[in-house]
Parts: sequence; C-alpha cells; structure tokens
Amino acid sequence: MARIVMKFGGTSTADNDCLRICAGHIAREVKAGHQVAVVVSAPAGMTNELGARMAKLDPDHQHKDESDLVLSSGEQINAGLLVMVLRQMGYKARSWTGWQAGLITDDNHGQARLKTAASQQFCDDLDRGNIAVLTGFQGVTIAGKITTLGRGGSDVSAVALAAAIAADRCDIYTDVDGVFTADPSIVPEARLIPRLSASEMLEMASNGAKVLHSRAVELALAENLDLRVTSTFKEGPGTEISEGLEDHLVSGIAYSRDQSRVSLTGLKRGIGAAQKIFAELAVAGINSDLLALGPASDLTMFNLVFATSRQDHGPVVECLRQRQLADLYKTMDAKENMARISVVGLGLRSQYGMADRFFSSLASAGIIIDAVATSELRISALITNEQVENAVRALHFAFALDRNSK
Ligand code: ASP
Ligand code: MG
Repeated sequence: MARIVMKFGGTSTADNDCLRICAGHIAREVKAGHQVAVVVSAPAGMTNELGARMAKLDPDHQHKDESDLVLSSGEQINAGLLVMVLRQMGYKARSWTGWQAGLITDDNHGQARLKTAASQQFCDDLDRGNIAVLTGFQGVTIAGKITTLGRGGSDVSAVALAAAIAADRCDIYTDVDGVFTADPSIVPEARLIPRLSASEMLEMASNGAKVLHSRAVELALAENLDLRVTSTFKEGPGTEISEGLEDHLVSGIAYSRDQSRVSLTGLKRGIGAAQKIFAELAVAGINSDLLALGPASDLTMFNLVFATSRQDHGPVVECLRQRQLADLYKTMDAKENMARISVVGLGLRSQYGMADRFFSSLASAGIIIDAVATSELRISALITNEQVENAVRALHFAFALDRNSK
C-alpha cells in the first residue's frame, strides 16, 4: 500500500462531468489498495472571474486579506462537489479546507508561504481509509485569517501536503499529456519528455513552462519527492520528475513573454556605477536576470543592458530616474514586450559546444540577442516577443529535440 497525493487542476475539474473523470482516477488508486489524499483547484476560469469582480470593487487592492477569502472560494466549491461524487460511487470521503487541515502560512496575503502542511487529524482520517479532498491554493495564518499561495498555487499545496504526510508519490493531473520538449503549439514535432530531473524541471518552470508552479518543483526537489505530470483526459505515461536521472543532455526549450528590457549607455568606468544601480534596484525589490555589459565607443565609458519582469517595468524606470542614479548614465531606453528564451538540460554543465550551438542557431535564424544568462542547467537569451516562435523552433531543431535519442 502506498500513500498518494493526486492533484487536479482547473480544466480537470471544470464541471460535473470532469469531476466524475477525476473520481474515476481516484477510485482506480483506492481499488489498488492505496491511501489517497486529493488536492483540487477551482473550476477553470473561476479564480480569474472572482479577481475581476473584486478589481471593480477594490481597484487599489486595499483589502488583501478579504480578497484571499474570496479568491480561494472556487477551491472550496470543487472540494465539496468532488466528495459528493465520490460518496455517490460508494467511497468514504470528506473535504478539508486549508485551515481545517492545518495548512498554516505566513500573513503575506496573495503570496503566502506555507509553514506546516497537514494536521495529525488529517493523517488519522487517511489511516481510517477515508479519501481526503483538500482545497488547494489556500492556507490560514496563525491569527486565523485565510490566505492564498499565489496564482497557480494548488501545485504548491499538493507538493507540500505530499511532503507533510510522507506520501510515496504526488501525481499532478492536468489538461496536457505531460512536459514537452517545447510548446507544441509552436513546435509540432515537440515530444513528451518521459523522465526529467527535478532540477531541470525547476529551470523549465521558472523559465516559463507553465505546466507546474516553480515553487512546487522547488519544494519537491528540497523534499526529494517524486512527481508525475499526467493527463486527466487521455491515457498515457505522462512525465516522471525525479532526481538522479542523468541520461540526457538537453531536455527542453522554455520561454516567457513577460520581460522588459532596460538599456543604459554612457556609464562611467571606475566609479562602481553598475554596483550602485543594482544595489538600488535590490532595495526597490526589483530582480534583474539577463545582463549584457559592453564597451562604449568612448572607452572610458560602458553600456549596460538587463532584463526585469514586465511587472517591474514602471518601477525600474522610476528607480533609474532618481537623481543619484540618473547622474551615472547618459541615456536610458526601456522596452516592454520582450521575452526570455531558454534551453534547459543537465548536459549544459558538462558538454562542450552547447553555448556555440545556442548562439549559432539563433544567429542563423536571424534572431537578435540583447542579453544572456547562464546557469549550470540553462542558457537564456533576451529577445523580442515577435521572435519567440522562430527562436523556439530554431533551438528545438539545433538541439535535435525532435529526435528520439537526445
Ligand atoms: N485557482 C487558483 C488559480 O487559478 C490556484 C490554482 O489553480 O492552482 O490561480
Ligand atoms: Mg496550474
């Protein structure tokens, strides 16, 4: 007997028919003799609708605490409905909200972090043979206020719960077949990745692959927990995410269209200009990722390009216009609608020629790179939004991801 956490996303729980399909998957695991804890999202679109409705009432988002109560209600609806379906099928099941199950968080409403993720009572209920259906996305502060974990956060609930109840497996049921080598809507030859290490999945997720929340992967990695991403609607192996799989070089291409670019020219050398700028950005809570630094035509000066998230576009411009920073450069140009494209794979750290392949394939596709960043497992470039499709296709081909052996 294993203990399993099964998480169902919004499209998997969109209506009663979908809930019956989810219940079928749950019944299969229960019949196989497993203990099952389920985590549900809200029905597709509901969280957005609730958010839009609140935005009209409270445009400045002044009531973050009450907003969390509203936002997390879709998950509650699904938990109750799914339990009804399971009971009608003859199973013992009950719903758990975040606060009932003991999912304690900090009080950062809208982006709360979990501190604990399941009470003894919750585990006892599983031991008694009940199916436990938990509302994803939701927690509670020590003071008893309901919190949410950030958009897409029920993945985080599922992994945290799995770790807390020492589950053997956490299966994420979704509307795609698993994790692909690239977005199949851009690259028709993209393949399902059967096995992926958690550190690669983390790079994929934090660089734009939407299939899993990056914090959920981070947690799975820290807790050494195996995940499986699989389709609710189609039979198939899905993608297994587990550490210690080193049998491939490059796993996939990820992209994210929410970048903004800042170019500064005419920075004086030797006065710590870059350091001062990044120190101020850090104080303002602005993260920059991709970066390029080069000499200006006047060799006593240099130019700097970096990327921030689109959300930070306004704040970054404002920050750089401050007196003490505006004196450090000659011109500033800031552009939204930029994208980050990344190649992810374990082989990037040990194989020669990977950077060459990355740059030459983008160059031959006529793609202009404004800045780059690399990590052990990833090479990323800042490009314009219009170039994303071409770049994804060029890299997918250059790294032979359309072929079976990597
Ligand atoms: N319902 C929440 C959202 O749409 C949480 C989730 O689906 O994971 O963001
Ligand atoms: Mg999701």
